[in-house]
Amino acid sequence: MAHCTVEEADAILDKEFQVLDKGFVRLVDYMGSDERIVQAARVSYGEGTKSFREDAALIDYLLRNEHTSPFEQVVLTFHARMPIFVARQWVRHRTARLNEISGRYSVLNDDFYLPELEDICAQSADNKQGREESPLPPDQGKAVRTIIKEACEESCKAYEQLLGLDTARELARMVLPLNLYTEWYWQIDLHNLFHFLHLRLDAHAQREIRVYAEIMYDMAKKVCPRACQSFEKHIFKGTRFSAAERAALSGMETKHGLSGKEARRLEAKLEEGRKLRE
Ligand SMILES: Cc1cc2nc3c(=O)[nH]c(=O)nc-3n(C[C@H](O)[C@H](O)[C@H](O)COP(=O)(O)OP(=O)(O)OC[C@H]3O[C@@H](n4cnc5c(N)ncnc54)[C@H](O)[C@@H]3O)c2cc1C
Repeated sequence: MAHCTVEEADAILDKEFQVLDKGFVRLVDYMGSDERIVQAARVSYGEGTKSFREDAALIDYLLRNEHTSPFEQVVLTFHARMPIFVARQWVRHRTARLNEISGRYSVLNDDFYLPELEDICAQSADNKQGREESPLPPDQGKAVRTIIKEACEESCKAYEQLLGLDTARELARMVLPLNLYTEWYWQIDLHNLFHFLHLRLDAHAQREIRVYAEIMYDMAKKVCPRACQSFEKHIFKGTRFSAAERAALSGMETKHGLSGKEARRLEAKLEEGRKLRE
């Protein structure tokens, strides 16, 4: 059990998956798999992998009960290329390790992100941090694209001029726009990747980072399909209730479609909700 290999994950290693107009994500490497999570969890008993069903149930139990450390035994390394404004959101996830291209060392190229017309929307009326769902009318969208493009070309021209005047690269770069592409190697363990995905797959996350999260989630599914299944069930597609919501729920018939165990777990949660109501 020294090294876990997963055929489906090996098949996508080093392949570039395009994101946005000029970005990409590659899965550079992975360490561990569903099996490693199970081995790590069972280390105290000296037991290894059991049947597929038992292993899946153990992973589900660990995730459901926030026994997170076995998930930290799986590590994924990505190579990603994204606009700087996406990188600024991404880098807030402090539990990853990264190495980014240096604008002090290298002359940056002039690749900048230009949104498609379908992604150019008005400011949302009810969400100060978001945009409306439907795009602006095509003429308006085209005008927006032209303004973005011309502003970026102007910035890139200024960058070239500054370099032409022998300005240090670390100074010249300050005129470059936020939609310029940057790239990095980004390494994170599965527990913290789930946290990143939970926040960045969400509909409230900006679309331009969400599309990266979607591709990376597909990659994680190749490495750890069972852990991802549990993540989807309990975190990504699950939700949290406030005390008042739980109390309100406890009066409703909510067990449709649940297995016996699932229904008992829900009943236990609702029972606590009932106590809150009393
Ligand atoms: C939709 C959305 C909108 C956002 N808007 C804004 C915004 O307007 N302005 C803004 O500044 N940010 C914003 N953020 C970023 C957000 O506040 C978080 O910084 C980001 O999502 C990273 O979350 P995190 O700290 O939980 O993740 P990580 O840094 O990956 O940390 C994971 C967990 O590790 C623990 N942890 C990590 N480092 C520390 C530490 N030093 N001390 C204690 N515990 C630690 C915490 O439990 C944390 O939850 C937004 C994020 C989202 C998803």
